[in-house]
Amino acid sequence: MSDKIRVTVWNEYRHEKNNPEIAKIYPKGIQGQIASFLSEEPDVEVRTATLDEPDHGIPNEVLDNTDVLLWWGHMCHDEVRDDRVEYIKNRVYTGGMGFIALHSGHHSKPFRTLVGATGNLSWGDEQREIIWNLKPSHPIAAGIPDHFELESEELYAEPFYIPDPDALVLGGWFEHGYLFRTCCTFTRGVGKIVYLQPGHESVPTYYNPYIQRIIKNAVRWARPNDFGYEIPGGAPYVNSVFDR
Ligand code: ZN
Repeated sequence: MSDKIRVTVWNEYRHEKNNPEIAKIYPKGIQGQIASFLSEEPDVEVRTATLDEPDHGIPNEVLDNTDVLLWWGHMCHDEVRDDRVEYIKNRVYTGGMGFIALHSGHHSKPFRTLVGATGNLSWGDEQREIIWNLKPSHPIAAGIPDHFELESEELYAEPFYIPDPDALVLGGWFEHGYLFRTCCTFTRGVGKIVYLQPGHESVPTYYNPYIQRIIKNAVRWARPNDFGYEIPGGAPYVNSVFDR
């Protein structure tokens, strides 16, 4: 395990290229904005990767050297190659790589594959959202007040078709009365997974200091443990435990 947390911020990076209004909010892309606040942290080393790069910017060597992978995708989930998804799954399950699905990443191939669910939900117009801190004891909630407000976010509404999470850290209330599990965590194999809802492309959510703090906390929480032994990749033990 390296001293620094090696983070890869993956973004589909199409909205910013195709829509000048979105490019105005995120001139360096959503990945560039997330990388810029993460790189303020002395214990974090950040790189970015996007869909249109060779191997989507995440060849095996990059994933092998990633401790935590953040994922923002929306329109082009189907364009993500299945062999990249399988490699990500293996890195999480047996390598302990952390995976953080952001916003519309609920429908991404890696998130659905990792948690084993459709990730379906209902959505609607942008509106005010109040985010409630439901689990102040959780490391991801460190420094977050009992609630804070986003002036505008895309409505995401329950039911959210995910397996029951290990921890429900934040809850969202939307101006039109809807509720959503804003931030929740899962474990799969030896890896940790976070889902975080805010982050619609046409609102400046990733400039919000509380959202930035949540993402920084999530990166630290999701990094792999310093495993005390080699994690088995599926091979059965042949000998008795007493022979080891
Ligand atoms: Zn959205």
